[in-house]
Formats: sequence, C-alpha cells, structure tokens
Amino acid sequence: MNRFLNDPQVAPYAAHAGRETVKSAVNEMLEAARHDVRGVPSFDALRDALLLQLELQRTQGLVPLVNATGILLHTNLGRAPLAAAALDAVREIGTAYSNVEYDLAQGRRGSRYDRTGMLLRALTGAQDALVVNNCAAAVLLAVDTFARGREVIVSRGELVEIGGGFRVPDVLRRSGAHLVEVGTTNRTSAEDYRRALTANTALLLRTHASNFRQEGFVAQAPPAELAALAVKSGVPLLEDLGSGACVDLREYGLPYERTVQEALADGAGLVAFSADKLLGGPQAGIIAGRRTLVARMRSNALLRALRVDKLTLAALGATLRLYENPETRRAIPFYAMLEASVPELRARAQRYASIPGTRIVDTQAYAGGGSVPQAAIASAGVAIEAASADETAGRLRAGTPAVVARTHEGRLLLDLRTVLPEQDEAVVAALRAALEPQG
Ligand SMILES: *Cc1c(COP(=O)(O)O)cnc(C)c1O
Repeated sequence: MNRFLNDPQVAPYAAHAGRETVKSAVNEMLEAARHDVRGVPSFDALRDALLLQLELQRTQGLVPLVNATGILLHTNLGRAPLAAAALDAVREIGTAYSNVEYDLAQGRRGSRYDRTGMLLRALTGAQDALVVNNCAAAVLLAVDTFARGREVIVSRGELVEIGGGFRVPDVLRRSGAHLVEVGTTNRTSAEDYRRALTANTALLLRTHASNFRQEGFVAQAPPAELAALAVKSGVPLLEDLGSGACVDLREYGLPYERTVQEALADGAGLVAFSADKLLGGPQAGIIAGRRTLVARMRSNALLRALRVDKLTLAALGATLRLYENPETRRAIPFYAMLEASVPELRARAQRYASIPGTRIVDTQAYAGGGSVPQAAIASAGVAIEAASADETAGRLRAGTPAVVARTHEGRLLLDLRTVLPEQDEAVVAALRAALEPQG
C-alpha cells in the first residue's frame, strides 16, 4: 500500500483527492488483481491501472473546464459563469451564520423569500417575486397553485419541448392540470383563448418557444390582448419567458428579445424565468408578478420542496445588484463576453496563432440557453488544421485544463468569445500540448 501511496506519479492524486480516496482505489484494484486468472501482475502494471482509475475519478468529479464552443450559455457546461461579486457573497454568507430566515429588526423568524424580493421588484417592476430552484420549478409551482385539477389554456404553437426533457404538456400533466389546446400549430389569436374559457379555467399560459422558431404564415396572440382577456375574465396569465432577459439585448447587437419588464408591463400576472440564463446568475427560477398571485404561491406547501439555499440567494442577490447600471453589469461574465469586440478577440487570437497548424478565423458565437434563437454573434477564434478534428478535440478534452472546442464543417475551432481572457495562457499551453506529435 505504502509503495503505491508514495509513488511519485500517484502522490499528486493523494494530495488532491485525499489519501483515503487513493487507498480505497488501491484496495479495489488489489481485490480485482487477486481474482485475475492471468496471474499476479507486476507493480508497474498495477500502478498504471491505478493511475488510469484515479484519472477517471478525477474527471468524473465536478471540474472546471474551458468553454471554447462559442455558446455563451451552454447548459451542458454549466450555463452562466458567476460574477466575482456573486462568489464573494457565497463565501461571506457560506462561511458564517446569516439571517436567511431571521428578521434582524424583530429578532424572530423571517422569510427566506424576502431576501431578494426588493432587488427583484426594483429590477423588474413586479409587485412581488419568489425564488425557487429553477424555472421549471417556478412553472410547476404556479401551475400547481392555480390549476391543480383545473384547466390551463395553451396555444398549439407553444406546446414545445425546451430540451432536457422539459415539455410543456408534460409539466402541466405532472401538476394535475388539464391542458386545453387552442389555435393551430402556426396561428393562434386571443379570440381562440377567449372561446376556450370555461368556469373551470385556472390559467392562461404563454411559453417562450426557446430554441424553436417558426417562420412564414405564423401568429401568436398579442401579449397585451391576452393580458386584457386575463383581467376581464379573472383568469391569471402566466408567461414562461425561460431565458428571462432583463435588459434590451439590442444594446449588445443581438436581435430583439422580449424582456421580463415588458411582459409585466403588458399585463402578465406572473412571469417565470431562469436566473442562470440571460440574467447571468446561479441556477434558480424566478417568478415575479402581482402581489396577490405571488402570495398564493408563497402559501403553497410545495414551495418547501422547491426552495433555494442561502448560497444561491447570496449569489443571486449579488448578481442582481450588478444590474444597477451598464458599468456594473459588465462584471457579470455573460455581459462582458457579449461586449468583447471582434478586434479584441482577434488580438487575443494572435497568441494562439503562434502555434503551428493554427490560424485566426472569423467565427459565429451564440447566446444559447434557449434565448434569441439562431442569432449569430460575430466572433473570432482559431481554426486547427489537424489530420483528425475528433482526435484533437479528444486530446483537448483530456488536457489540463480540459478544453471543449467546436467542430464546424469538419474543422476544429476554438471560439474566443467564451474563453475568459485570463484563461488564454493556460489554453494556449493546452493547445500546444494537444498538437504535439504523439510519441
Ligand atoms: C430554459 C427554459 C425553461 C427551464 O428553465 P430551467 O431554469 O432550466 O428550469 C423553462 N421554460 C423555458 C421557456 C425555457 O427557455
């Protein structure tokens, strides 16, 4: 055992993952070797098997990586990286006790949900807001609160699957609501909703189609008309915005994307959106809207199962404070990445292009996260002329740091818009190592 633990190649794993983890891997390996019918392997063979196992364990844990795909909000890669201020807040709140459910002024129990309420009201203009685990949970909570055993009216053009198994009709079914489809796949009017209203209608639901887009002879009911119908009929309108833009993305050269503020101003009673998409915060779901409606959700027992922890609240609060003005907003990595100019990215690419077999290219980045679908963002990066793009991509993923690149028309690309500038040096080294002739 000690010979393994003290081996110069094994020792770094013990330092990183802990001696007990390595010991348990050694024991497992020795146990397997005992049953090996081919006889007793050499120490070197055993050590190599151990190293393989330890390396596998290392990358199977949660590890940071470099996103060179050019997709800013990549769900598989953790969506929005957090602002430094958000992490500082996590450290500050996480390493001490906090008032997460304590009212300091009164000296008694307080509400966890009040913590970010003021910031969300200020940012969105909503009367009240709740924070839960994610946007899916926000929609589930709203539907469960208002529509269990009752009817929810949805346009046929919005019965979409957003990805990751989030299908609007399934979510409704899970919360015991009856789905009432109106309109057609391509066209739905407010009149379609009106005709479907019954005494048992609990909600009108609008859903952002996210990554899906229809073109041509298409129309959805104007949100303001739906909101007016909601007010007239006394049936609340819930809008699932998903990506939840809280700023006008046209300021960043992106196409128009309906904002949370606009949805609320149009008269939606409740608006649900993610905190880790266009907001650039931690994973959470926000539901903002009319005081009376939010109050009903607040008293739903299901809220207890969907609640967020203090670290999420700390990170979210700090992120929301950065919305103060465009200057402070720049501290949110998502907005810093959006703002980077193509000449800046090309200048950074120079460092990469000193490696033989690479050259600077114009690329197209994407916001991702089910927002502003298909809108390309002019970007720059390096193309890699390797015999096999797949093989090189594999070597980049296996490197330190792991780099996830994109293949485009059989070519491997590193898009620098999603590579943080402070990562450049390490990524250049990793790329150099990945392109070295294999011995
Ligand atoms: C992304 C998205 C969701 C799911 O959001 P999560 O925060 O991942 O749960 C729901 N609805 C829409 C329209 C979305 O785009």
